[in-house]
Amino acid sequence: MKSAATIEAVRAWIYEARRVVVLTGAGISTDSGIPDFRGPNGVWTRNPTAERLSDIRYYTADPEVRKASWRSRLEHPAWHAKPNAGHLALATLERRGRLLALITQNIDGLHLRAGNSPQRVIEVHGNLHYAVCLACQWKGPMQAVLDRVRAGEEDPQCEECGGILKSDTISFGQALVPEVIERAMQAAQEADFLLAVGTTLRVYPVANAVPIARAAGARIVIMNAEPTQFDDIADAVLNGSIGTELPQVCEAVVG
Ligand SMILES: [Zn+2]
Repeated sequence: MKSAATIEAVRAWIYEARRVVVLTGAGISTDSGIPDFRGPNGVWTRNPTAERLSDIRYYTADPEVRKASWRSRLEHPAWHAKPNAGHLALATLERRGRLLALITQNIDGLHLRAGNSPQRVIEVHGNLHYAVCLACQWKGPMQAVLDRVRAGEEDPQCEECGGILKSDTISFGQALVPEVIERAMQAAQEADFLLAVGTTLRVYPVANAVPIARAAGARIVIMNAEPTQFDDIADAVLNGSIGTELPQVCEAVVG
């Protein structure tokens, strides 16, 4: 199918769908200025040592890694990023009552900022806008901790217990939250249409959402710049610009 015909078909499927589940990855946020960490021009690809900052083992063991992490957090593009046309199309899809769940691998919080509700958004890798203590249950706004870093604390500690603070995100070597993954897989099971956007579907168990939805009878559409391992089981694959194509395929619903 040519791209225009594919977009037309996908638009009709979304219009018919009642329980849309969307799975998003880094590709949906690159138009908002958030780099793809794993892509060909990704931060980790260009600078493998940056990956150490995101590894929980180095982070907990080495104060220097934590100091470098806090310096790097100060400059994260997420603080100034705005939702783009792709995020906004998904927010409207929810307002029209079609969205069962929005599963995201992104930590930038842009789906919530775009207007999707916390009840629908499942952030499987956490959210950078919050900080947590690794020792106690404390959790609070990241900006308040970053203010302490700006004021001179290189490795701010938990004010409740003195424990190590970190962004409320899943680092390498850190377990996913089982209830969150369960919620995501349950949604995939109930979907009648699953749209994977801007993800290479290489990260498990999240990628399982695609075969689970397929087995449950959902239509599958994959929108990603690079091929994925699930392209073969998809009803359609789109490789163009997400910022352009995502609003187009949602058009019939969002108007
Ligand atoms: Zn604490």
